[in-house]
Order: sequence, then structure tokens, then C-alpha cells
Amino acid sequence: MAKRRLNKQQQWRIEKIQAERTQRAARKERSIDRQLEASELGDEQAGLVIAHFGQQLDVEAREGERAGKVLRCYARANVGNLVTGDRVVWRPAADDTGVIVARQERASLLQRPDNFGQLKPVAANIDHIILVIAPEPEPHHNLIDRYLVAAEITEIPAVILLNKCDLINDRNREQLETLLARYQALDYPVVRTAARPGTGAPEDNPEFEALVRDRTSVFVGQSGVGKSSIIQTLLPNESLRVGGLSESTGKGTHTTTTARLFHLATGGDLIDSPGIREFGLWHMTPQEIEQGFREIRPLIGHCKFRNCRHQGEPGCAIEAAAADGRISPARMQSFRRILYDMAEQQARGLGVVE
Ligand code: GDP
Ligand code: ZN
Repeated sequence: MAKRRLNKQQQWRIEKIQAERTQRAARKERSIDRQLEASELGDEQAGLVIAHFGQQLDVEAREGERAGKVLRCYARANVGNLVTGDRVVWRPAADDTGVIVARQERASLLQRPDNFGQLKPVAANIDHIILVIAPEPEPHHNLIDRYLVAAEITEIPAVILLNKCDLINDRNREQLETLLARYQALDYPVVRTAARPGTGAPEDNPEFEALVRDRTSVFVGQSGVGKSSIIQTLLPNESLRVGGLSESTGKGTHTTTTARLFHLATGGDLIDSPGIREFGLWHMTPQEIEQGFREIRPLIGHCKFRNCRHQGEPGCAIEAAAADGRISPARMQSFRRILYDMAEQQARGLGVVE
């Protein structure tokens, strides 16, 4: 990620814009505070952030006469950052707006690095990450492991969903079953579905329905596996685009669209955004990669050398585990490959001059 040097004039302009923004935010804050002081606001009540647009948030009222209604809210500065999925305390103001005065504690937080590598919160209170794979595009175990590593780092449980089950045939069956068995052996639940109408859509699939019922889910995975199609079956009334919602560019992802929370007819919620769908596809450190492999995590610190790179050094605990089958050959290959790819990516990143 190359940083362009700004000339004096550009720098001056940026500083001016930032100063104006700060002033505007301060004015807004004063006006919210004035309203609070003048007691123009209604009583405190529970709400749920369902979308987030800069300073403003859409909050769904969770109780009282407004329950279910969505209000445009501002947050007091002392509330801290807020994201879609946050449970909040808010007070009604004039014209169907509101002021968020507190944030409830989060059960989980999905974060991703911004373009400068700083972790930024994206969505809160997600119960599980549903990693979608399909017979086509053919699943790459390295990529699956990359998503799983990211899920492990985030500490949100991951589930593997095999979509397009109608495309399983005698040519791909064995390979798919072997792959799924490997993850089940690692205690990753596996669920099967087909999002294409007439092929056992999710609404007639009790196992899939049970997966999303009464929980907050996100769907992640490679483009083309059927995430939009699955979401479409869950939210028939939303017009989400099937076939490439991703906004990724060759240089990395620039995702501006906000995460949105949707209620499912079956009960349960879904949070979705292009950024969430690409969850996990960013740079990870070797330490994170070690932590992110469930069967490798307990071995961390057991190599003879503290700076062991697990590449033929004597007394390597990870290689010993691979040799006696505690780590499967596929996962070991994937571990090495992800380490290698990340090192490469970093080396390239450092060399870039714009
Ligand atoms: P996304 O990129 O993961 O959001 O994938 P899409 O939902 O855009 O789907 C990619 C393609 O796969 C589309 O042409 C879908 O119609 C197709 N597709 C999705 N689900 C299924 C399924 O269960 N079976 C079959 N045969 N095709 C599917
Ligand atoms: Zn080692």
C-alpha cells in the first residue's frame, strides 16, 4: 500500500476539510446536548442498529409503541463507535429521529482492516459466520482455510455451508466428501443446501432453516458460490443483485456500502454488505495464521526454537504433529501456502511505488 506524498496545497486543502468536518461534528454534538439538557427527548429505550451512514444510524425500536419502527438517529460522542448489529439505548427526538445515549456490551465484533491495516469494526453481535462453498467454482482448501483462520481470529464460530448440492455428481462427489469430512473432524459443522429454485431451496430445507433460525448470521465465501442466491431465498422481498455484488478491484478492496441488518421470516437476523462477503481476504501475520489453525494452536510455543519457521528445523512441534497425523496433509499444505502467500504479499506491498 503506497502512500502518495501530498504537495503543500493538497495538504492545506485536506486540513481545511478536516477542520470543517470537526466543526460540523462539534455543532451537531452541541445541538444534541442542548436537546438533552432541555429535556426535549423522550424516555430511554432499547434499539438495534440496522444500518450506519457516517454520523447517522438507522435504529429499530425494540420496545414500546414504536417497536419495529426504524428511526434515523445520531449518537452522542461519548457512546463510542457504533456498527450495524449494536444494541443501543436511545431517546426519541422530534420528527421520528432519535439520539443514541448508550451502547450495550457486544457479544462479538466482526472487524476488518482498513486500507492502512488498522482494524475497523464492521458489525456486532454476530453469532456465526457461514462460509459458503459449492461444487462450482471448485473449492480450494487454501481459500477455505483462509476464511476459517479469519473466523478463528475474530472468535466468531464458523459453519461450512455446501451450496449447489444439485451439482454433486460422480466426478466431484468423492473429492467433496473428503474435503467436508476433514472439516467435520476439526469440529466445524457442515450443512448442505441448494439455493436454486426447484432444487430444494432453503425454505424446504429444515437443516438450513435451523442453521439461520433465531441467530444472527453473515455469509462469506468466494464469488460465485451462491451467497446472493441464498440471501435472496431468505429475503424474497429485498432486491439484492445476484451475480457479482463484489466491488473488489485488482488492488485490494474498496468497499463503501454499509452493512445492513435484515430480519428473516424464520426468525433470526442476517447482516450483509459487500465488505462482509469478502471477510478474511486480507493480510494476516504468521502468528495469526498459527492461531487460526485449530489443530496448530495448541502446539504454539512447543517448537525447540522460539523463532521456528516450521520448515525443517530440528524439534519442530508442528512438523512432528504433521508427521504423526495430528495435522492432515491438506491442512499442513494449506498452512504453509497461506504463510508463503502472506509473506509474498507483504514483500510485494513494500516494493510498490505509485
Ligand atoms: P455469489 O457471488 O456467491 O453471491 O453467487 P451468486 O448468488 O451470484 O450465484 C452465482 C451463480 O450460481 C448464479 O448463476 C446462481 O444462479 C448460481 N447458483 C446459486 N445457487 C445455486 C444452486 O444451488 N445450484 C445451482 N445449480 N446454481 C446455483
Ligand atoms: Zn516449528
